Amino acid sequence: MDLTFSKEDLKFQEEVRLFISENYPYDIKEKQDNRLPLQKEEIIRWQKILANNNWFAINWPAEYGGTDWSPTQKYIFQNELAAENTPILIPFGVNMCGPVIYSFGNDEQKKQHLPGILNSDVWWCQGYSEPGSGSDLASLTTKAEKKGDKYIVNGTKTWTTLAQHADWIFCLVRTETTTIKQQGISFLLVDMNSPGVEVKPIITIDQSHEVNMVYFDNVEVPCINLVGQEGEGWNIAKFLLMHERTGIAGLAALKRELVRIKELSSTIQVGEGNLLDDANFKNKLNKAEIELLATEFTELRTLSAISSGNSPGPESSILKIKGTELQQTLSELFIELCGYYSHPFISEQDLGSNASIGPDYSSAAMAHYLNFRKVSIYGGSNEIQRNVISKLILGL
Ligand SMILES: Cc1cc2nc3c(=O)[nH]c(=O)nc-3n(C[C@H](O)[C@H](O)[C@H](O)COP(=O)(O)OP(=O)(O)OC[C@H]3O[C@@H](n4cnc5c(N)ncnc54)[C@H](O)[C@@H]3O)c2cc1C
Repeated sequence: MDLTFSKEDLKFQEEVRLFISENYPYDIKEKQDNRLPLQKEEIIRWQKILANNNWFAINWPAEYGGTDWSPTQKYIFQNELAAENTPILIPFGVNMCGPVIYSFGNDEQKKQHLPGILNSDVWWCQGYSEPGSGSDLASLTTKAEKKGDKYIVNGTKTWTTLAQHADWIFCLVRTETTTIKQQGISFLLVDMNSPGVEVKPIITIDQSHEVNMVYFDNVEVPCINLVGQEGEGWNIAKFLLMHERTGIAGLAALKRELVRIKELSSTIQVGEGNLLDDANFKNKLNKAEIELLATEFTELRTLSAISSGNSPGPESSILKIKGTELQQTLSELFIELCGYYSHPFISEQDLGSNASIGPDYSSAAMAHYLNFRKVSIYGGSNEIQRNVISKLILGL
């Protein structure tokens, strides 16, 4: 792939920069730069700003409201957003459920659900994992029994990210008990306001409320909410996971973080010089930078595959591993940079209060570090990604 930007690409880059500078709300930017948690309203406000310019669902086909950008344009766009530290787009609708609906859904489902995702009017969450069914997802037991024109759903989903905000959940449910566990699974869309759906928070090690338990107690779901054929949900599940993994790598954001660590470390005095000159620190930073560059080439290959109409392949597992390892490495280096100022643990609720000591950038460092232990687990743990690579890439 030619990495030299053409004149048109550079013009596009200017257009994106101008758009961000004119449209990125200052109150959201200020929170982002201080790593303060965003409210639902703020996340939606930013997503709508992008959607109003038709710049939200960039990987969707143009006929459904996506862009027909080249891989280079997508790359430029994501890099510019990340460089300005704009909020992460919530992936459950736009990167997960949307592609499933336009790829496997019928016309009615496309008409009902795609506009709400595109305009961020409807918040989706992902109901895959269950207590006892994480890595071994196909062992899931949430049951959907057909009764007339409805399914009756019973079971429990866990780790459901931001379900407390969600209007709808896409679920893997068991519609048949089979000897091969991957069979008999179906992909069902459930309105979170249905009687019998209950959401309970799980508070994580950083004291934040990001994940939840979701209980289904005799929830009635119209059969028209089944996506694809009954019993063929496993293929859809795999399709979606590949899309999910590609997004998790977050390489553009890592580049910004690397620059930030370099800038801040050059202001911290160590002996006669500064932290950036410290051989040990510099060595770790350089290693991360080299790995990031190498991983970026894999990302470009994946982008190219998606924009040629293909699904991301098993290389998305490489991206998931390398991207999340780098996210954790940089969060560790950030703690090293903050030194003892990162030790007083400030939870999400206290962030932004005047309780912090040391420089502002250090207040959220520990909460961020603790929170980012999750990245090597969600979206399929990194051990599972290594299994995928060994089978599908190395043929072992
Ligand atoms: C912050 C967070 C948010 C999440 N959000 C969602 C969400 O919105 N929706 C959703 O459906 N799920 C979500 N998940 C769930 C996530 O996908 C699972 O946690 C993940 O798939 C691992 O499953 P598990 O937690 O059951 O661990 P287990 O499967 O019990 O694994 C435990 C350990 O054993 C290892 N292991 C298991 N099997 C193998 C194997 N075959 N080979 C090698 N090692 C193995 C794992 O790598 C892991 O280290 C989220 C998880 C987290 C932490």
